[in-house]
Amino acid sequence: MSLVRVEGVTKKYRLGDQTVVALHDITLAFEEGVFLAIAGPSGSGKTTLLNIIGCIDTPTRGQVFIDDREVTGLSGDALADLRARTTGFIFQTFNLFPVLTAAENVEYPLLQLSEVGKDERGERVKRYLSVVGLEKYAHHTPNQLSGGQRQRVAIARALAINPRIVLADEPTANLDSKTGKSILDLMKRINREFGTTFIFSTHDRHVMAMADRLVRIEDGHLARLAMKVDEHWQQVRTGKNTHKRREGAT
Ligand code: ADP
Ligand code: MG
Repeated sequence: MSLVRVEGVTKKYRLGDQTVVALHDITLAFEEGVFLAIAGPSGSGKTTLLNIIGCIDTPTRGQVFIDDREVTGLSGDALADLRARTTGFIFQTFNLFPVLTAAENVEYPLLQLSEVGKDERGERVKRYLSVVGLEKYAHHTPNQLSGGQRQRVAIARALAINPRIVLADEPTANLDSKTGKSILDLMKRINREFGTTFIFSTHDRHVMAMADRLVRIEDGHLARLAMKVDEHWQQVRTGKNTHKRREGAT
């Protein structure tokens, strides 16, 4: 069973009297536990695809299934509920609330879950700040933290709901390369230890190289899907060409 399945998804945006086709007929599926990168240059459709997988946005055409349940067509409330319980989000610009402490930022998405009481919220905040190595910074506000520490708070916030999927849109783009690598290392450790599925977008080949699976998009088209085997990428599917070949990890 696939955790996420995208079938024939096209996304068009209207800009005045122009139509921008951000995604063309994308079909892909992946199972729980993957550490997957969506790679492509700026404007290729990465954010649009992540937003559609995360049910933040809806496709113009095509279907999205989470756990084999079709989510396209669900009402706004049902989608909001699905998002609140299923998906953690990490953004390029961290998107923390500046007036809240690290602990309060991590607690925030839990306030939407009525079944999670105050004690449980406190435990999860403590647990996930510790997972990201920030237990000593619980009472700091974002402006008292470095970029890397802010992104760690964002990771703890994404994990707090015990999500099935964490979606990260260019999570390292605002970090220096060393800090970016440490953020990716942390995400990978969480993927390995907790089995959390991670889907992240990037245009940085060092970040791509850390993925186990790679989806490449160019101008809204799925260009290539590859799997890492023994540090090499093996092509598993493309729209144009289905023969398998081995290639370098870039
Ligand atoms: P990426 O994340 O790879 O940079 P995006 O998914 O943001 O790419 O954008 C893909 C294409 O869709 C681009 O041409 C972009 O200008 C366009 N686009 C994205 N969002 C909108 C929007 N809300 N309205 C109009 N065009 C958009
Ligand atoms: Mg983007």
